[in-house]
Amino acid sequence: MAERMLYLDHAATTPVDPAVLEAMLPYFTECFGNPSSIYRMGRAALQALDDARSLTAEVLHCAAKDIVFTGGGSESDNLAIKGAAFAAREQGKGAHIITSAIEHHAVLHACDYLKAFGFEVTVLPVDGDGLVSPQDLRAAIRPDTVLATIMYANNEIGTVQPIAELGAICREHGVLFHTDAVQAAGALSLDVNELNVDLLSLTAHKFYGPKGVGMLYVRRGTSLLTQINGGGQERRRRAGTENVAGIVGFAAALQRAEERRASYVTHCTALRDRLIDEILERIPHTRVNGHLKQRLPNNANLSFAYAEGESLLLLLDQVGICASSGSACTSGSLEPSHVLMALGLTVDEAHGSVRFTVGKDTTAADIDRLLEVLPPMIERLRSISAKA
Ligand SMILES: *Cc1c(COP(=O)(O)O)cnc(C)c1O
Repeated sequence: MAERMLYLDHAATTPVDPAVLEAMLPYFTECFGNPSSIYRMGRAALQALDDARSLTAEVLHCAAKDIVFTGGGSESDNLAIKGAAFAAREQGKGAHIITSAIEHHAVLHACDYLKAFGFEVTVLPVDGDGLVSPQDLRAAIRPDTVLATIMYANNEIGTVQPIAELGAICREHGVLFHTDAVQAAGALSLDVNELNVDLLSLTAHKFYGPKGVGMLYVRRGTSLLTQINGGGQERRRRAGTENVAGIVGFAAALQRAEERRASYVTHCTALRDRLIDEILERIPHTRVNGHLKQRLPNNANLSFAYAEGESLLLLLDQVGICASSGSACTSGSLEPSHVLMALGLTVDEAHGSVRFTVGKDTTAADIDRLLEVLPPMIERLRSISAKA
């Protein structure tokens, strides 16, 4: 298997940018001190953390002390939802939470977990394009609502929600607003004031940083119940010796992603549009899932009637092409994607869907290669399908 790998699964994860790796390396070896230690090497590590926090805060237009570094996107979502929900209930504010049907499992399962502690959860539907309606959010808010959590951009279908508008509705009603912005970094503005958010989650490995390090933005004055108890790190909001190298990598990757955002969007949009247009042209009985305009620049989610998505992924893998069906966490199971089902797709349509997500290093030649191999693969799968 000497052929070149063609990676079209950037929504699942991205490679670490060499410049980001370079920035991280000293903190594994020469400067390995604990940021809580008082000698020089500890202070140097603390300085690196402070610098990373300031860089991150610049991108989010917030204060450095509003940033809590975590072990990734799932942890940030859990800290935001459980932390804010338990703190609000402790203050007697109520025990009702609002979310949407297309959230990442880190959000949906954190909300489900809270039900066992007496919280009530309203799950808002989405329309056929995957959009949450601001009117639905407004109507779902009750006097005892303490938190709403709606993702910025969806990892499967790329649909981008009107976060600023949803956030404004929450603020008007005194409801805390969290957004999982994991897929938005590098593609959309992360200005927490424009977005009207109180809590915002990110993870480095979705924007060319390392895995296992993320961040939660916490607006000043927002009470959070700590989920990992121990030392007083992260202003007592997340205990544990800081992942200094990872945090340095997080900030370097975020800064690079923000600096290159405009050109990244242009680059990816052109590739994605060509990919979608050509596939629709060359392969009949194909539909695009997700909103056609309010969509991440790198996402193409397609349903091929009479062809099984998982089988297509195996054929693509045989020629070195990496793509995904549903979310990485659910593929391997036979459950259809909860996101595609929420759009109103049938089980068959959901099973016939594949996600291609391009990245900063994807080229036009890469798209050509996909366009060359894909039509005969679909034809082959359809010819063996009983339904074709
Ligand atoms: C990847 C992803 C997560 C989880 O982040 P991890 O760092 O892998 O825990 C959460 N939400 C969304 C939308 C994601 O795409």
